[in-house]
Amino acid sequence: MMNFFRKKPVVSPVKAKITTSTSKVGLEKEREKLIENLKTEFVSIAAHQLRTPLSAMKWIIRMLLDEDLGPLNNDQKDYLTKAYLNNERMVALINDLLNVSKIEEGKFLNKLTRENFLQLIESNLALWQGACKSKGLFLVFEKPKTRCPAVLVDKEKIILALHNFVENSIKYSNQGEIIIKVVYEKDKKRFLITIKDQGVGIPKGEQSRVFSRFFRASNGSKLETDGTGLGLYIAKNIIQSHQGKIWFEPEENKGSTFYFTLPV
Ligand code: ADP
Repeated sequence: MMNFFRKKPVVSPVKAKITTSTSKVGLEKEREKLIENLKTEFVSIAAHQLRTPLSAMKWIIRMLLDEDLGPLNNDQKDYLTKAYLNNERMVALINDLLNVSKIEEGKFLNKLTRENFLQLIESNLALWQGACKSKGLFLVFEKPKTRCPAVLVDKEKIILALHNFVENSIKYSNQGEIIIKVVYEKDKKRFLITIKDQGVGIPKGEQSRVFSRFFRASNGSKLETDGTGLGLYIAKNIIQSHQGKIWFEPEENKGSTFYFTLPV
C-alpha cells in the first residue's frame, strides 16, 4: 500500500546526474559571461575617465609648444614634443580599448551613411603618403577607372579599419612599396580591397592568430615596440559588421597582403 502511494522519482538517477552537471556547466558559463561583461564595463569606464585628463594635457602641451605662453628654447621644445607624442600614444591606446569594449558589448557601429568609397580613401592619402615618405617607402593607390556605386558604411569606422591596415604596412616595413588596390567586382556586388607591402611579414607558426585580440608577431614586436595588438582585431570586427570578408596572405621576409571586401 505504502509503496503504491510513494511518489516515483520524476527524473531517473542517471538523468538527474546529467541534469545537475549540465546546470553546473550552465551556471559556470553564466558566471564567466557575467565576469566578462564586468571586465568590459570596467575597461569602458576606466578608458572614458582617462580620456578627459589626457585631452586636457594635450591642449596644455600644445599651447606651450605653440609658444602661446612665451618663447621656448630648443631643449624645452624637445621635451615638450616628447610629452605631446606620448600623450597621443596613450589616447590611441585608450581609443583602441574603448573600441574593443564596444565590440564586446555588441554596440559597435554608429549611423550608416552612403559614401563614395574611393573618396574616403583619397581623403587620407596625403596623411599616409607623409608617413611613408618619412620612412623612405612608396605609396601606390590603384583604383577602378569606371564609376563605382556608393557604399552604405559607418564612415568613421571604415576609415579606422583602413588606417589600421595602412599604418601597419608602414610600421612593419623598412623598404619597398605599399600598394592600396581597389577593384569593383560588379557581378559580386562588392569592392575588393588589397593592402600589400614588402615588409617583415608574419612568421608561419603565428599566422593563425593574426586577427585575435592582443596578438603581436615575434618579428613585428621587435621592429615596433609600441603596438597594442588590437588594430587588426578592431579592423576585422569593422569589416564583418559591414558584412564584408577579411583575410590575409603573408610571406615571411617578403611582406604581407591583407584583403577585405565591402558589399555595395
Ligand atoms: P599593433 O600593430 O598595434 O601591434 P595590430 O593588431 O594592428 O596591432 O597587429 C597585430 C600584429 O600583427 C602586429 O603587432 C604585427 O606583429 C603583425 N602585423 C600586422 N600587420 C602587419 C604587416 N603589414 N606586416 C607585418 N606584420 C604585421
